[in-house]
Amino acid sequence: MHEAAARPASGIRREGIAPAGFPESRPPPMTTPTTQKDPWQEMLKRFNEAARRLDLDEGVWKILSEADLELKVSIPVVMDNGKVEVFTGYRVQHSRAMGPCKGGIRYDLGVNIAEVKALAAWMTWKCAVVNLPFGGAKGGVICDPSKLSMRELEVLTRRYTAAISDIIGPDRDVPAPDVGTNDQIMAWVMDTYSMRKHETAAAVVTGKPLLLGGSRGRADATGRGIFDILQHAAHRFRLDLRTARVVIQGFGNVGGTAARYFHEAGIKVVGLSDVKGAIYNPNGIDVHRVREHVTKNRFLAGFPGAESIDAKDLLTLPCEVLVPAAVENQITEQNAARIQAKLIIEGANGPTTDEADKILEGKGVVVVPDILANAGGVTVSYFEWVQDRAGFFWPESEVNQRLDEVMHRSFAEVAEMAEKKKVSLRIGAYMLAVERVAQVYKLRGIYA
Ligand code: GLU
Repeated sequence: MHEAAARPASGIRREGIAPAGFPESRPPPMTTPTTQKDPWQEMLKRFNEAARRLDLDEGVWKILSEADLELKVSIPVVMDNGKVEVFTGYRVQHSRAMGPCKGGIRYDLGVNIAEVKALAAWMTWKCAVVNLPFGGAKGGVICDPSKLSMRELEVLTRRYTAAISDIIGPDRDVPAPDVGTNDQIMAWVMDTYSMRKHETAAAVVTGKPLLLGGSRGRADATGRGIFDILQHAAHRFRLDLRTARVVIQGFGNVGGTAARYFHEAGIKVVGLSDVKGAIYNPNGIDVHRVREHVTKNRFLAGFPGAESIDAKDLLTLPCEVLVPAAVENQITEQNAARIQAKLIIEGANGPTTDEADKILEGKGVVVVPDILANAGGVTVSYFEWVQDRAGFFWPESEVNQRLDEVMHRSFAEVAEMAEKKKVSLRIGAYMLAVERVAQVYKLRGIYA
């Protein structure tokens, strides 16, 4: 963990972006989306296409086109200077059909209802793609965690948890970390909920510290899952990983961990970025040395083993594999045509717009979609929830082996669906997910 320069450090590790161990809000202008797409609309376009192709029942189609529940809460916090600040938070449950809802909590200045709704729906599809007994939810608070002290963050988190505590719970809705939140924040969520219910409710949240019932392997799970997917995709689409060059956008929990896995497997990482900038070395970057550099300096900038480049040029660098592992709307109609990668593995949620998808498809670029590629995190969240409920904890080797199996099976199922229906992997993944959710609706019927 690192200290923020001017204020007491909150030490927030981002799930999706920024150097591990340091809080950052949305990327500065150089990496902000070149287009302001509404993520909910982007989600709906893909869902509608899958629904059309599946000839989805009209009623189920209508139900899934809306969120089951949208909660907006005001969160008053007495700041360190004695003044009251009122933050806005959300929790959206997109679909409760498959089981308790599952999905992270995001602390970021860019949080808004359209984004939270889209992220909640993506969780529905993601859980269904990898066959977890969960529906989809997401939460968010509009704030910049890097500007909050530890005390302010704790108070904000506890008050937000109290405000949503009637709709969360081990059998209702189980939050987890996302951009701007980490295991310490999950510990406060768990404690606040447990205190209010007068019980120890470890399974109310995942991504907790090990001592509170967290799972071994959870912190690395999203990155490990991406590494699994890279291997399966390379095999299927005949990409030689011994010569492949990889570019990764985002060096937080997802991008940073994936980079480490790639590097340890001898796969050449040539480009990396964080919220402040990007680095490039066509001969390969020593990811271990980058991690050491980031531990000392917080950011990639100044890393001696690579040249600094403009972050907006990162996505279009010469490479075979591109891993966008930051936030939504990064690959757009403005840069898609210039992308040189043959394979894109989406570590972030919603990094590619629908228009960009069409351009990439036209160029023959294979895109492994977010709802499959980054599902390793929620898969091990599921394992954590299972372990908490059983009160019996697994060794890391068991967690990893089960995770690898889920990623392997899910990749094969999505690839098969895409091939059978002659659609992209994204639409194949949506079709698989939507079909599973629709089957459950059919069995359960509509409660009246
Ligand atoms: N925030 C992560 C995601 O977007 C993990 C969610 C979870 O584990 O519930 O998939």
